[in-house]
Amino acid sequence: MHLYQQQTIKIHNSLTGKKEVFVPLNEGHIGMYVCGPTVYSNVHLGNCRTFMSFDMIFRYFKHLGYNVRYVRNITDAGHLVDDAEEGEDKIAKKARLEQLEPMEVVQRYTVDFHNILEKFNFLPPSIEPTATGHIIEQIEIIKEILEKGFAYERNGSVYFDVVKFNESHEYGKLSGRKLEDMIANTRELAAQDDKKSPQDFALWKNAEPQHIMRWPSPWGDGFPGWHLECTAMSTKYLGETFDIHGGGMDLKFPHHECEIAQAEACNGHSPVRYWMHANMLTLNGKKMAKSTGNSILPGEIFSGENDILSKPFSPSMVRFFMMQAHYTSILDISNDALLASEKGFNKLMEAIGSIKSLPEGKTTDFNVTEWKQACYDAMNDDFNTPILIAKLFDAVKHINLIKEGSETITASDKELLMQTMHDFTFDILGLENKQSSNVDSEKLSGVVELLIELRKEARENKDFATSDKIRDQLADLGIQLKDGKEGTTYSL
Ligand SMILES: [Zn+2]
Repeated sequence: MHLYQQQTIKIHNSLTGKKEVFVPLNEGHIGMYVCGPTVYSNVHLGNCRTFMSFDMIFRYFKHLGYNVRYVRNITDAGHLVDDAEEGEDKIAKKARLEQLEPMEVVQRYTVDFHNILEKFNFLPPSIEPTATGHIIEQIEIIKEILEKGFAYERNGSVYFDVVKFNESHEYGKLSGRKLEDMIANTRELAAQDDKKSPQDFALWKNAEPQHIMRWPSPWGDGFPGWHLECTAMSTKYLGETFDIHGGGMDLKFPHHECEIAQAEACNGHSPVRYWMHANMLTLNGKKMAKSTGNSILPGEIFSGENDILSKPFSPSMVRFFMMQAHYTSILDISNDALLASEKGFNKLMEAIGSIKSLPEGKTTDFNVTEWKQACYDAMNDDFNTPILIAKLFDAVKHINLIKEGSETITASDKELLMQTMHDFTFDILGLENKQSSNVDSEKLSGVVELLIELRKEARENKDFATSDKIRDQLADLGIQLKDGKEGTTYSL
């Protein structure tokens, strides 16, 4: 008997807006597709949160004994600067600005993406296909959509005919939009525009002579539209219908809506059974944006090299912080929130580390089996990690009472408690057992704070020789002090 036969999972399906009992298409097997990054810049912290949510979901399915095929793609062509299909390809633009080959841009930021995800302790997906590796498959799908009459060719480009599609299907059902409203709210097409209607989207774009990213096709040299790659790769690796499609909330429209339209036009039926969308991450209460300076990269959090946080935070700690919010809620990251979360993280790790040496008694003062099922219940309820973490802290409370001698636990319950704490904390939440280094970093943080305080006193006493000595010797050890309006902070 597999664990999954004992647990019933409910998933919030974005397509129906309801929490539904999850039943996979083939018993014991799950096909899951998640839209991956467009690799033209360092991976955004908000994107890390989205991928982390699906990593946790992937981990839970695997823990339950499911055979999961998890496909997360790399977008290395076709994603234009302006989502309204104007402007340059994001990767081609970066290549032009930095005088690189587009594939150099792709390589650089794919490596960065993998590095950061590894630090966050992600499991690799089963398949990580690229758009440029699937041009042939994309061309085949365009031919099929043309044949079915849901697309048209204009000057070497091929567009999806949304109005035609909407006559027999429902365009907008995922995002809850009506085509009539969309049409009423858009500007007139420019005279030189090849599209029949502003809602139509490109399946293939004709490449101008100066465009370097180009491939031959029946319609001339060009490149695929962004939405098409996900239809091509999900169909190829998961089939015409598969269990779960995930991504960030911002991809619901137009990206996922277009994916549905392409697949339905091609195959005559809906491609995905459960649509899942992860919510966004804000920084100090505001949307993250490089242009306003309200932005931080994952690497800058780990090193402390930033103007927003007072100290470095470890990847596992940041992962714990993100898991404290449900994946469908907006999460705000700030210095205070991270500091508070770090205390909890250290407390959890310390408690787990001490289970082994707990004294064994004749009775147990809490029902470990019931508590274990409560942990599963939290995860079964649409992967509710904040509730799960609250359950883990219920156990921490008992562990500490047993340590003090106020409660007791039997040897077999202790074994069950330890196994369950490990399963949920490390295997499912994906946190790492770096307990000793967490304690070390707490101690280091205390020592650095003490030296910052001593240096402040030295400066107040005009003892600049001492204050400079503290700063310089810390710098020799790789710890940089930074004086700001809010006091002195440090980075490693
Ligand atoms: Zn996609």
